[in-house]
Order: sequence, then C-alpha cells, then structure tokens
Amino acid sequence: MSALYGTYARSELAFERGEGMRLYDQHGRSYLDFHSGVAVNALGHGDAHLVTALKAAAEKVWHTANTFTIPEQERLGQRLVEASFADSVFFTNSGAEAIECAIKTARHYFWAKGQPDRYEIIAFTGSFHGRTLGTIAAGGNPDYLEGFGPAAPGFKHARPGDLDSVKALISPQSCAILIEPVQGEGGVTAMTSEFMQGLRKLCDENDMLLVLDEVQCGYGRTGRFFAYEWSGITPDIVAVAKAIGGGFPLGACLAKGDVASSMVPGTHGSTYGGNPLASAMGNAVLDRILAPGFIDHVNQMGQKLAWHLQQLAQRYPDYVLELRGKGLLAGIKITPPVRDFVSRLRDDHQMLVIGAGDNVLRLLPPLIVTEADIIEAVEKIAAAFDAIEAETASVPAVG
Ligand SMILES: *Cc1c(COP(=O)(O)O)cnc(C)c1O
Repeated sequence: MSALYGTYARSELAFERGEGMRLYDQHGRSYLDFHSGVAVNALGHGDAHLVTALKAAAEKVWHTANTFTIPEQERLGQRLVEASFADSVFFTNSGAEAIECAIKTARHYFWAKGQPDRYEIIAFTGSFHGRTLGTIAAGGNPDYLEGFGPAAPGFKHARPGDLDSVKALISPQSCAILIEPVQGEGGVTAMTSEFMQGLRKLCDENDMLLVLDEVQCGYGRTGRFFAYEWSGITPDIVAVAKAIGGGFPLGACLAKGDVASSMVPGTHGSTYGGNPLASAMGNAVLDRILAPGFIDHVNQMGQKLAWHLQQLAQRYPDYVLELRGKGLLAGIKITPPVRDFVSRLRDDHQMLVIGAGDNVLRLLPPLIVTEADIIEAVEKIAAAFDAIEAETASVPAVG
C-alpha cells in the first residue's frame, strides 16, 4: 500500500535513467518517449547543456527570496520579453500558478482603472488550465469541479471555434477572454487563425484583454516559439510553463507593460517562483530552444509527423477517425478506448504516449525528435492496431 494520495492511476513502471528520446526502466528496458512528461521534457532526457547548467547552478546560491535581485531571473525575463510580445514577466513554479497570475493581472488592470466590476472571464468548454480552485473554475470541466464546493465565480464558457457563442457572453462585467490556442488535455483541438483573429477583434471592440494559455502549446511545440504567432495576433497576457524549465518546476506569466503596471508590491508573490536555481535552468532551456535552427527543426518534424500520421490514417480507416493538433502537439482520435490503448502501447510496444479528452491519443515527443523516431512511433501504433485486429478476429462469433 502506497503512502501517497491516490490521485493518480499510476502504472507500476518506474524509470531509472533517460537519454534523448528514450527512458529506461528498472529492468533496463528501453521506451520510446512520445509523452515528454506531459510536454515538459522538450529537450528529451539527459541533455548535456542542461546537466552542465544544473551542476554549475548547484554550486552557487540555490534560493533567495524575491525581495532580493536575482540576476538569473532578470536575464530570463529580459530574454522572454525580447522573444515575445511582452514587456513584463512574473515567474511561478507551475502552469496553474502562471494562469492564476494571468487572471489576477487581468482583473487588477480593470480594478486599477476604476472598473472593479469587470472581473468576468470568458473561457472555453474543453479547456484545461490547471487544478487549483481558480483554474478548475476557469477550465469549467464538471468532473474536476465536483465535490470541491462552489466553483470560484467570474468564469463563463463559450464554445471553441464559435465566435457567436463568445459574443453572447460579453457583458459590462467582461474583462478578458482566456483560451489555449491548441487545447491539449481537452482533445488536442487547434484553433484556426481566423478564430484567434476574431477573438482579438472582439477584445479590441469591447476593451477586453486577450489571455492565452500556452502552458502546453507554447515554447516551440507547434513549430513557432509561441502558438499565437501562427495567427499573427498580439495577445495581452500569455501563461507558459511545462517546457520552460525542461523538467525543473518553472512557469511564467508574460504581459504587456501597461497591463502589468498595476501589479505593484503587495499585489502578488511567490516564495520559490524564479529562484536562482529555477532561473538558471530556464536560461539553459532557452539557450537551446532559441538557438538558430531549433524551432525550424520542430516545424519540419511537425510536418513529417503529420505526413506519417496521414499515411497511418489511410492504412487504418477503421481505427483512426480524425487527426488533430499542430506541430509536435498531435492528436489521433481513435476507435479503441484510448486509456487501454495507451497501456497497450506502453506494455506491449515500449512506447509512451498520453490520452486526451474525446478519446484522442496525444503525441508529445521531445522537440529533439527525428524522422526516424517518428517512423518508429507510427510503426508501433500500427503494430498495436494490428494486434487489436488479430485479437478481435480470433474471438469466436457469438450465436
Ligand atoms: C498542464 C497545463 C496547465 C497546468 O499546469 P501545472 O504545471 O500542472 O499546474 C495549465 N494549462 C495547460 C494548457 C496545461 O496543459
């Protein structure tokens, strides 16, 4: 009996070591990683630059409170500002905290303008923003809200892709629209550029802020540094996390200067957020992701993955219903129950993937993936379909 909370349906598999695209279990068996610890291990496992940076940081100051200047954090913030729309950054330890900061920033902006009644945020069905009380209310998934008391007020939910459903929710209380440019958890649904542009326009017309959750889809994963770049829009606030620390817990809320200007001493804080150790890792990850050619590689691999998945879909029309996603955040809506299929890939084909809503198989390889890895992964999925086919055929018909 484990001493831990039973909050996760854990496999007994435990990994001892990792190298690039592979993880090795306690028996030395190798697994192809198309999971990346939920989009966190963007540089795969054991990246030499990250290991060197971690060792160097461990010899220096690990932690000081945010009431002191943290040079590594200043540098990371400056680099993120230079690489994005933002002028101002707040560092957190996780994605949910980055979203909490985004929500607080948006509400406080209107409060400071003398409009305290404007606190309502229009989010979307099928979204996921984290597991704190605030972010489960923002996500609106009834399964995640049940049993935890009244949902935090101030969130309404429109339908992704449906601008009219957004318009219908805009009121004098509205302050922001919150959206994942590619919904991850909910079923790997990529918003179209037209929809993102439509949201930007609605925000402009109604003096609202556009807040993006790029915790999963940002940081290069779609083939651009931020997923919003595909639509050519400029957001007001963006939350990032997951890949930003390469496995070290780190998140960030990026905002335009005027939007963040009311967040003065006393309005927000975090004990650990962006401490010297975390910021050193953040800088090391950025060294690799912003290196010339890195994001081009992701973009190319995203196209290769899409092409190989199209071949798979043609080969297995009874198993593949739809291909979704963007870049290296890919989804396959399949007919077999996705939870069993994920276990089958893991146990029988030594490949790690993750499920998503709407019975979608989610592929999130480290961004260092090669075409050979992609071909291997697609062959493993094909082999799993073949195995199901063979099992189904061998079951004698009833009656
Ligand atoms: C994972 C995730 C979060 C929450 O991040 P945590 O680090 O688990 O708090 C929020 N939004 C999206 C889109 C995510 O994928």
